[in-house]
Amino acid sequence: MNKIYDVIIVGGGPAGLSAAYSAWQNGAESILVLERDREPGGILQQCIHNGFGLHHFKEELTGPGYAQRCYDLVKDKREIEILVDTMVLEVNKDKTVTAVSPAQGLFTVQGQTLILTMGCRERTRGAIRIPGYRPAGVFTAGAAQRMVNMEGYLPGKKIVILGSGDIGLIMARRMSLEGCKVQAVLEICPFSNGLTRNMVQCLDDYDIPLYLSHTITAIHGKDRVTGITAAAVDEKMRPVAGTEFDIDCDTLLLSVGLIPENELSLGLGLSMHSLTNGPIVDQHRETSIPGIFAAGNVVHVHDLVDFVSEEAEIAGKFAALKARRVLAAAVADVTVEAADEVRTCVPQHLRVTEEHEVIRLFMRVRRPLKKCRLTIRSGEDTLLTKVLPVAKPSEMIAVNVPADKAAGHYTTWSVSVMEEEA
Ligand SMILES: Cc1cc2nc3c(=O)[nH]c(=O)nc-3n(C[C@H](O)[C@H](O)[C@H](O)COP(=O)(O)OP(=O)(O)OC[C@H]3O[C@@H](n4cnc5c(N)ncnc54)[C@H](O)[C@@H]3O)c2cc1C
Repeated sequence: MNKIYDVIIVGGGPAGLSAAYSAWQNGAESILVLERDREPGGILQQCIHNGFGLHHFKEELTGPGYAQRCYDLVKDKREIEILVDTMVLEVNKDKTVTAVSPAQGLFTVQGQTLILTMGCRERTRGAIRIPGYRPAGVFTAGAAQRMVNMEGYLPGKKIVILGSGDIGLIMARRMSLEGCKVQAVLEICPFSNGLTRNMVQCLDDYDIPLYLSHTITAIHGKDRVTGITAAAVDEKMRPVAGTEFDIDCDTLLLSVGLIPENELSLGLGLSMHSLTNGPIVDQHRETSIPGIFAAGNVVHVHDLVDFVSEEAEIAGKFAALKARRVLAAAVADVTVEAADEVRTCVPQHLRVTEEHEVIRLFMRVRRPLKKCRLTIRSGEDTLLTKVLPVAKPSEMIAVNVPADKAAGHYTTWSVSVMEEEA
C-alpha cells in the first residue's frame, strides 16, 4: 500500500475503536485500524455479563453491547478503514507497520502517527510456578470465559479459582450459573483484588467461599486435575507449614493478573514503566517516540472499560492533531511522581503547552485504605487536595487538575495518597 494514513491504530478493541472515532472527530482524514481477531471489539466480546458503560454511555451494557456501541460510532465513516484477521508483526520508528492477513498476505503500511492499543493478556501457570504435574484442567479464567461464552464448552464441573481479580470473580458466578460447583476462590493477598460490586454480586450472592491470604501449593492428578492443596500464607506470602488442606476439583481457573501486550512496544524501543508494564506516556498519551501514542490496557490495566475509552479518546485526538500539524509545541517537560501510597500514576510526565489544559490523572494505590487524602504538589504549591472515603488497589482513582491550577507549574508533580488519622 503506498498511501500514508494520518493515523494507524494497532488493535481494534474498545481502546482502538474509541481512538479511531476521536481521531475522526478531530479532523484526521484517513484512519486505519488493524485487528488480528475475526471481528473488532477486543476482549469485551467474551464478557457477556452486564455492568459496562455506566460512565461512558450513561447506560448499563454487556461487554458485546459496549463493543457494538464503539463499533457503531466508526462503522459508516468513510475516513475509517478497519482490517480484521490482520496481525501486526512489527512497528517501526518511521511509523511503518508490517502486518499479515489471509486476504492481503504480508504487507506494510505507513502512518503519520500510530496509536498502540493491543490490550493485555493473562498471566498463566508458568508465571506463578505452582508445583505438581501438568494435567488437563488448568485454564486461565479468560480462556475459560471464551470457551463458555463464545464456543459453548464447559471446561469442567467442580471448580477452584486462584486469584480474586475481576475475571476470576465473574467466572465464579458464570460457572455457578452454568450448573458447576465452585468450591472456593483463593487469594494470596489479605484483600480481594476485584471490584467491591463483583465481590458482592459474584461470590456473596452465590455463597462461594473466599480464602484470603491463601495460595495453592500443589495440583493433584496426572492426566486430569483431581484436586489441589491450599495453604495459608504469611505476611511475605510464603505458605505456612501445617495449614495445608485439600480441595477436590476437576478444574483450576487462574485469575492471577493481566500483562499489557507490549512485545511490539519493546521491539520499537519505547521507554517502559517497570510497575505498569506499559509505555511511559504524557498527558496526550504520546510515548517516548514522537508521533507514537498508546492507550487502554496496553498502557496500564484498567478496571473499567469506560476509562479505557476515555483514555483512547485523548490519544485519538492528539494523534489527529499531530498528523494535521496543529498540535501546540511543548514549552516544558514535567515529571509526575507517584508518592506515599500511590503505586502508579498515568501519565508519568506532562509536555506542557501554552494552551492551558485540564490534566486528568489515573492512579492506583498499593493497599486498601480507609479515609485518606489525595494531594498533588508541585514544589511548595498544592495543586489539588481531596478526601477519599476509601481507596483500593483494584479500583483506579481518576482526578482532574484544573487548567488554572496546572498552569505555570513546570517542576515535578508529586501525587500522594495518605491515610488520615482516625
Ligand atoms: C479475559 C478478560 C476479561 C475481562 N473482563 C472484563 C470485565 O468483565 N469488565 C471490564 O470492565 N473489563 C474487563 N476486562 C478488562 C478489559 O480488557 C478492558 O476493560 C478493555 O477491554 C480493554 O480494552 P483495550 O482495547 O485496551 O484491550 P482489548 O479489549 O484487549 O483489545 C485489544 C485488541 O488488540 C488486538 N491486538 C493485540 N495485538 C495485536 C496485534 N499484534 N495485531 C493486531 N491486533 C492486535 C486484540 O486482538 C484485541 O482485539 C477483561 C480483560 C480480560 C483480559
